[in-house]
Amino acid sequence: MMRQYDEAKKACGDALLFFRMGDFYELFHQDAKTAASALGLTLTSRDKSNTVPMCGFPYHQLDSYLGKLIKQGFRVAVCDQVEDPKTAKGLVKREVSQIVSPGTVTDQALLEPAVSNYLVAILPQQRDKKSRAKRKSQDEGDDQAPVGYGVAWAEISTGRFYATSVVNDQLGSLLARLDAAEILVPDSAVFSSESFSSSMVTLRPGWSFGVETARESLAKQFEVASLDGFGLNDFDESAVGAAGAILDYVKETQKASLGHFDRIQAFRQSQFVEIDSATWRSLEISQTIRSGQREGSLFAVIDRSKTPMGSRLLGQWLANPLTSLEEIQRRHDTVEELCKEQKLRSELQDFLKEVFDLQRLLARVAAGRASPRDLSCISKTLATLPSLKAKLTGRKSQWLQQLEADLDLCAELRGQLERALVDPCPAQIKDGGFIKEGYDKSLDQYRELATGGKQWIAQYQQRICEETGIPSLKVGFNKVFGYYLEVTHLHRDKIPAEFIRKQTLKNAERFITPELKEYEEKVLSADSKANELELRLFEDLRRLVRAQTARLKSNAEIIANIDAVAGLAQLAVEQSYCRPEMVQESVSEIVDGRHPVLDIVEPLGAFVPNGISLGQESGFLHLITGPNMAGKSTYIRQVALITLLAQIGSFVPAKQAKLGLVDKIFARVGASDELSRGQSTFMVEMTETARILNTATSKSLVILDEIGRGTSTYDGVSLAWAIVEFLHDQIGCRTLFATHYHELTALEKDFSGVANFNVAIREWDEKIVFLHKIVAGPADKSYGIHVAKIAGVPDWVNQRAEQILQKLENSGEVEANRDAITSTNSSSGDHIQLTMFGAVQHPLVDKIKALDANQMTPIKALQTLHQWQSELVEETGESQADHDEQINA
Ligand code: ADP
Repeated sequence: MMRQYDEAKKACGDALLFFRMGDFYELFHQDAKTAASALGLTLTSRDKSNTVPMCGFPYHQLDSYLGKLIKQGFRVAVCDQVEDPKTAKGLVKREVSQIVSPGTVTDQALLEPAVSNYLVAILPQQRDKKSRAKRKSQDEGDDQAPVGYGVAWAEISTGRFYATSVVNDQLGSLLARLDAAEILVPDSAVFSSESFSSSMVTLRPGWSFGVETARESLAKQFEVASLDGFGLNDFDESAVGAAGAILDYVKETQKASLGHFDRIQAFRQSQFVEIDSATWRSLEISQTIRSGQREGSLFAVIDRSKTPMGSRLLGQWLANPLTSLEEIQRRHDTVEELCKEQKLRSELQDFLKEVFDLQRLLARVAAGRASPRDLSCISKTLATLPSLKAKLTGRKSQWLQQLEADLDLCAELRGQLERALVDPCPAQIKDGGFIKEGYDKSLDQYRELATGGKQWIAQYQQRICEETGIPSLKVGFNKVFGYYLEVTHLHRDKIPAEFIRKQTLKNAERFITPELKEYEEKVLSADSKANELELRLFEDLRRLVRAQTARLKSNAEIIANIDAVAGLAQLAVEQSYCRPEMVQESVSEIVDGRHPVLDIVEPLGAFVPNGISLGQESGFLHLITGPNMAGKSTYIRQVALITLLAQIGSFVPAKQAKLGLVDKIFARVGASDELSRGQSTFMVEMTETARILNTATSKSLVILDEIGRGTSTYDGVSLAWAIVEFLHDQIGCRTLFATHYHELTALEKDFSGVANFNVAIREWDEKIVFLHKIVAGPADKSYGIHVAKIAGVPDWVNQRAEQILQKLENSGEVEANRDAITSTNSSSGDHIQLTMFGAVQHPLVDKIKALDANQMTPIKALQTLHQWQSELVEETGESQADHDEQINA
């Protein structure tokens, strides 16, 4: 048996192996130690002389233990007995039936219903064909940084499958939005761990990312001659390689049919608003910064879907707001109609409540894991379609019309399922009893035989008693010789000749008769025949459903869309949202806007609405000043969230809104505000800021919160100042800049697009009251000390602070030099291109540029480096040793 164990263990790589032994799953060796501590099981050994550590649990607790390990990021292989131990000769055969990892979970109990569970694969792009050819002829370890990545992702539990290619700095954004459960990367690739946040990373052999093999295996999977029809040709071929790696991994782990993987969708970033990882986190779209939990996030607060499919789709919409005016308006039209038609909306939602998670049900059908109850849930879902369709008929909105037209009632399939399955339907196949009476004649007969058996036996006993005149004669049953007649010794002389003696007991004898045996055969086999037939009928039903997967999947998609959009309408009505007017120009005009999350979680009426008018005329770059806790962050986030909501097709929390489309949304929080992440480094803040400055366009929306605060005041002010200038002059995008650097308010004078706003504050009864109202103009600059006074800081400190402030202001560091500062930049007109490392103009740079790294051997590279170092030391008179000393000092 341990040999069998070793073989199974070899076949499942680094997964923990659950090895089925009788009624238990057991783990051995290191697996046992790991699992014992992760699951809190007792570590034992098989017997006293045996030192192999082991632990285990009863087989029916598989789901629970599997779930616990998957949640902790382990991969688990389940090795089952594939023969009936009763009939097996010698050792029972065992096989690994599935390998489960966080990205390949399909079991409902282990999945969150409302959240997509993505498996992602990433393949670094190769530079170009020429350098690839060179690379082949050289050593394998060439680690040129890739120019981009092929990325594919799939949800095993629904069969959704996407691929794209992204340039270098888009990878983090994409991954943040996907929130992958597991990421596959080639074992030779080098990635910074930061890109993957909390996802489990699985290294896969390089060949499983092979582009050519991928083309073949994907085409075979989708049953097409070539992949041309899927639009992947617009991407780098690494996208296909990544998709191939997903398919390869899924096949390896699922060990089941993957019929629901019937196509792949090309994901085109340009069709969606780009939201990078820092923005995603900072706007708290899918989880809050503080707790990392979904609760309290935008998604959790606005989701009004009635089905998990609708919730998951809403999650995808939030991750990918639209950039096409037409498509956004199409969604707005639908939300509007569903808002106005209250009866329609509530009826639709009532029907949706009856709908089951068709997407995940279909995946289980495809994998051959669907239970009778699963099929019954599909049937019940189909039963809601006629009413849904009828409700959608004759609607005004084009989209609802389209959804109605595409909804396929699948009447024959529904009819067949309804005729076949009992209601309520059992969850287990093995117990039988899920096929309705009247569905199959033979099944009915077997069942009659089995249930009729007892009656017949009662009658038979009575008849024999009468015929033989033995009143105490009884029919009994045992496993050794089945049904028998028992006669006490008292009546020995009345036993007829045709009775065949089987057993003699102390007081009685047992007999069989040909008649009894004949019937026994019928009764006993009827039960097992009924079970077998039921199973066959069930398989037929499963096949029937599987054959309709494409139609059913499309229905699932339609239901998800109806649900998500009806949910948005419900939200709009509940929270008094308005339909935003969407335009192409770069304007954001909002009247009485509210923060979508605070608006819902705060008590009614507690949130103070604020408007905005961002654009060429009223200033496209607003500086918001005011003391801490005034409401600056809330206000600027509110504008970003309203924009995001509008572009997913939702109405917005405002009285009125006119919004110009954005192509990207950026939100950055200054380093000091991100202490909770334990990453309060100025470097992170600047890296993220650099990304905005390098990638924002005039159509982007940028919100910056206290940028520049992570360094000394003068450094910080100067940087913030220069960043504002750059955004104003070089990019010209709509920007909200919340800052407590009062000095920046001076920018308004010299930059036509800059406008000052502050958050109003009132003193009252010796206290300060935050009015949370945004008003035009800069904040009162001495407010900090003012607040300190009101807050009860001793007078001495306040007076001394006033003195220091005066001194600083008189020394005229920033304010007095404002003219000089602005003239150095704006008057000269030649703006400096901002790069991460600044413009380096050393002769060495030219040498580096001219170098063909592909042609160098490692020794040559080392020599060259050494030579450069000597040149530099000569030039500056400083050696590495000096440098180290300096650093130590
Ligand atoms: P700042 O960025 O100026 O330090 P925040 O935006 O973090 O201030 O707001 C501080 C607190 O004030 C928030 O936690 C929020 O509860 C409350 N707040 C902010 N804006 C409003 C508003 N418009 N209406 C009501 N309460 C608000």
